[in-house]
Amino acid sequence: MYMLKNVLRNLSGRPATRLYPLEDREPFPAYRGRIHNVVEECIFCSSCARLCPTGAIAVDSRAGRWEYDPFLCVYCSVCVEKCPTKCLKQECTHRTASVGKFLVSRTGTPRVKKAKTEAGERKAAAAETGG
Ligand code: SF4
Ligand code: SF4
Repeated sequence: MYMLKNVLRNLSGRPATRLYPLEDREPFPAYRGRIHNVVEECIFCSSCARLCPTGAIAVDSRAGRWEYDPFLCVYCSVCVEKCPTKCLKQECTHRTASVGKFLVSRTGTPRVKKAKTEAGERKAAAAETGG
């Protein structure tokens, strides 16, 4: 009789847990999720790669390539906190499930090349105005 009462209560009441995957929970605003590099602002200084405790980031400062292995990342945020240009961001969404491994690779202009281009542009502008 005691058990029947329990069964009836459970059948008529609300479910005790969220009906995942039909019902998803929105992440908290401060949730530390997917890593994203706004590569246009990256200076390829390698700080993130040096400080990452799991070796999830590799930076080729000459080629201007930034690589990130989401399967090695433990989402500790060290790289995001120490990035000098704040181009590394941590989105408040989970990394989605995947059946295979992959690397995230972003390419941009290395710092030296960027400085040379900017100096060249300044020189050309000065020559145009006769300054
Ligand atoms: S992401 Fe930030 S810390 Fe990493 S190489 Fe680029 S500028 Fe440096
Ligand atoms: S969040 Fe932590 S583990 Fe992940 S890439 Fe950044 S430093 Fe490495």
